[in-house]
Amino acid sequence: MGKPKGGVVEIARRGLMLVISSPSGAGKSSIARTLLSQPDMQISVSVSVTTRERRHSEVEGVHYRFVSQREFEALRASDSLLEWAEVHGNFYGTPRDPVEIAMAEGRDMLFDIDWQGAQQLQEKMPADVVSIFILPPTMAELQSRLHRRAEDTEEVIQTRLANSRSEIEHWREYDYVIVNDDLNTAIDSVKSIIKAERLRRDRRHGLFDFVNGLITEA
Ligand code: 5GP
Repeated sequence: MGKPKGGVVEIARRGLMLVISSPSGAGKSSIARTLLSQPDMQISVSVSVTTRERRHSEVEGVHYRFVSQREFEALRASDSLLEWAEVHGNFYGTPRDPVEIAMAEGRDMLFDIDWQGAQQLQEKMPADVVSIFILPPTMAELQSRLHRRAEDTEEVIQTRLANSRSEIEHWREYDYVIVNDDLNTAIDSVKSIIKAERLRRDRRHGLFDFVNGLITEA
């Protein structure tokens, strides 16, 4: 049964897999970073493995686990990745164990992965995945955000821009679509989605006992 906690009755529920995708530069990482830094959101991030080179601002084990091609293939061969994909010429994958542990404990996880990864998770865990696609307000803004970030070479930026149109074409495969014109508004929208999805009846198995307790209460 649910136990009162600070005036709120907590009902046991399954963990949520919040998948956020977007073309590079649409603001997905900024949104994710803000959510993770807010303790009240109680959500942790899935740290992917990648064969991409580390950017200067990135920390091993925090942003990614940076691995060699060989290490990546070994992880894939041992079925240690829940999903994987090649994106912009590099390999990326989601380690399986942390996700399975979080789901079993009813904790929520955020996945910053592309549409190929989103498709794989939606197929494997349809009941747990909530997917959000972030769009830029204009392609010109996408381009200027990639340049402003100033962390990639011009060649990398051009590859990412060239890939962005085909990525955007997958917008229909997502539960929610947010146009990130203003970062704070976009973050508020994602928070609203998380809050509502946590309240979904079919996610909260503890409701059975709670309601039984209510209707049999003396
Ligand atoms: P970046 O190189 O900018 O960090 O990421 C490039 C793209 O790869 C982004 O769209 C990001 O969401 C995606 N990505 C990062 N990690 C994973 C992963 O584990 N699986 C998949 N499928 N995509 C990922």
